[in-house]
Amino acid sequence: MKSYFIFREKTENNFDVCNKILTFAPIMSDEIKQLKQYLSLPKEIAIITHRNPDGDAMGSSLGLAAYLRKLNHSVKVIYPSEYPIGFAYMTNVHQVIIFDLDQNAARLAIDKADLIFCLDFNGLDRVDKLGENIQYSKAKKVLIDHHLDPEPFTDIEFSETEASSTCELVFKVIDELGDRNQIDSAIGDCLFTGLVTDTGSFRYGTRPYTYEVAGILKSLGVDDYKLADKIFNSQKEKHLRLLGHCLANRMEVMNDYGVGIMWLTKKDYIDFDIQRGDTEGIVNYMLMMENIKVAAFVTEQPTIIKISLRSKGDISVQEIAAKYFNGGGHKNASGGGVYASLNDIIEKIKKVMPQYLPKVLH
Ligand code: 5GP
Ligand code: MN
Repeated sequence: MKSYFIFREKTENNFDVCNKILTFAPIMSDEIKQLKQYLSLPKEIAIITHRNPDGDAMGSSLGLAAYLRKLNHSVKVIYPSEYPIGFAYMTNVHQVIIFDLDQNAARLAIDKADLIFCLDFNGLDRVDKLGENIQYSKAKKVLIDHHLDPEPFTDIEFSETEASSTCELVFKVIDELGDRNQIDSAIGDCLFTGLVTDTGSFRYGTRPYTYEVAGILKSLGVDDYKLADKIFNSQKEKHLRLLGHCLANRMEVMNDYGVGIMWLTKKDYIDFDIQRGDTEGIVNYMLMMENIKVAAFVTEQPTIIKISLRSKGDISVQEIAAKYFNGGGHKNASGGGVYASLNDIIEKIKKVMPQYLPKVLH
């Protein structure tokens, strides 16, 4: 566990400590001082986040971009691949450069930048070919991220694995720069989106500060009811039908070990017209079953088998993803990708899981 500055987290549940937290005067860390220096003159800035951006990746990048534009920087946001259309309510999303659709524009934006922000990813392999442009760029690089084990490819790291989301850290960085008052409702909507989506609506991955940030964002103008409606009540009919198919026909439960496995074949992708982002969140349904400790969602992509892992409590799916599925992520939410057949991967999951989970006594 790493934290970029001594933090309010050292709390116990008592009133005095709570009072201390609220009156805590933040110490300006060396990282913040350095960042303030970088931002002291108008810059060409590129903000990049990971492939298949989710609510946190999009909220953090678009929220930070809107803030930096207020400081008169010229900002380009770059995604390696397309984003889920359900998040298109975020400010200036239509200006995002998508590498898969326009490689030249994406590379140019990175090559022209004096300052590059890398948000919500911990290693250059998460941004595909753009990783090379970032690696060789002479720009100063800043990481803001909450994944485990960040690789050392940036000049300044704001890395806190205890943070709920990168959006929480973007808020913290803006706040420590002394610019809380620059956060308007458009920026707030972006940041709140990451808080909500990366915590499953404040059900996991939170710390006291997460709720503080949520409260501050609400007081700065975020309409959390309206946002929740946009995020959760905007599914197409085909999404619900796909979910029904997964639950009814594509789920196997290893009752002896508390593991749920779900899969989708290439044919399912055609039959249900599954597009990028359409399978988001389906893995979590398996965790709703009592006794299920680990959920694995396996999808047959054109060339690769993608694995999404989720767990409850102390079981680290990050370890499992890294060791067996060429991936990583967080302790309770990880993923990976393997060149193999769908069946081989399902069999591998069945073999690997019992090593991590005690046999359930019925
Ligand atoms: P998801 O299952 O939603 O695709 O991803 C869950 C988490 O695992 C995310 O935080 C993501 O960063 C991480 N993750 C997903 N796929 C990969 C992968 O192929 N490699 C690595 N290192 N992490 C991944
Ligand atoms: Mn995140």
